[in-house]
Amino acid sequence: MVNDFSYIDENLRIIRERVGEAFGKYRKAGDSLRIMAVTKTVIPEAVNYAVSLGLDLLGENRVQEYLSKKDFYEKSAEVQFIGSLQTNKVKYIIDTVTMIQSVDSIRLAETISRLAVKNNKTIDILCEVNIGDEDSKGGISPCDTGDFIEQISQLDGILIRGLMTIPPPSDSDIFLGRMQELFNEVSEKKKSVVRMDTLSMGMTHDYADAIKYGSNIVRIGTGLFGARNYDIKK
Ligand SMILES: *Cc1c(COP(=O)(O)O)cnc(C)c1O
Repeated sequence: MVNDFSYIDENLRIIRERVGEAFGKYRKAGDSLRIMAVTKTVIPEAVNYAVSLGLDLLGENRVQEYLSKKDFYEKSAEVQFIGSLQTNKVKYIIDTVTMIQSVDSIRLAETISRLAVKNNKTIDILCEVNIGDEDSKGGISPCDTGDFIEQISQLDGILIRGLMTIPPPSDSDIFLGRMQELFNEVSEKKKSVVRMDTLSMGMTHDYADAIKYGSNIVRIGTGLFGARNYDIKK
């Protein structure tokens, strides 16, 4: 049976319309903004369909799932890692992802650095910030973010490009605003050691707000591919 992915056309049309609206309202021409297709639980055929519609950036959460799917992905799409990452799994993804957005410990940064050097490459990273200081979430506390970046900035093989966050679901507007402030503050202070040009925030429920607060990458899963079926893949 051939799958019908026309729902993705319609979903993407709506996303592009809302992104365009928010961008026009809050941002200036030339600002960088990318739409990432978040692929967890989504079959590669659907992912490739989204790529055929012009989405060129994929976000992966789980190492095992990514490894089972990556050979089926359209090669033209860039893949970035956005999920929590154990140090012993870095070796499986280091050669095929262009950015790791979820760096939240010195140990993880050191591991990525070591493997990048071994692979003769420099990999872009974002520092994941726990902007709501929630116990349930990974990420660096906002008040420690500057120091964290300072500490990992000297490592070879990695280039710190900015910050990523998943704000608390309620009051996300407030936290997106705080993220923008933190991003500006850290970028200014650490100018000499890093290239802070990427703020990754905004998901299906808050991407328009995230654009308002300066996001450069909105990460959209369900809004694009529909509700996730956790039974298919873990
Ligand atoms: C799942 C996920 C997303 C996408 O979430 P949706 O609400 O489905 O758009 C974005 N970022 C991360 C880190 C995720 O794990």
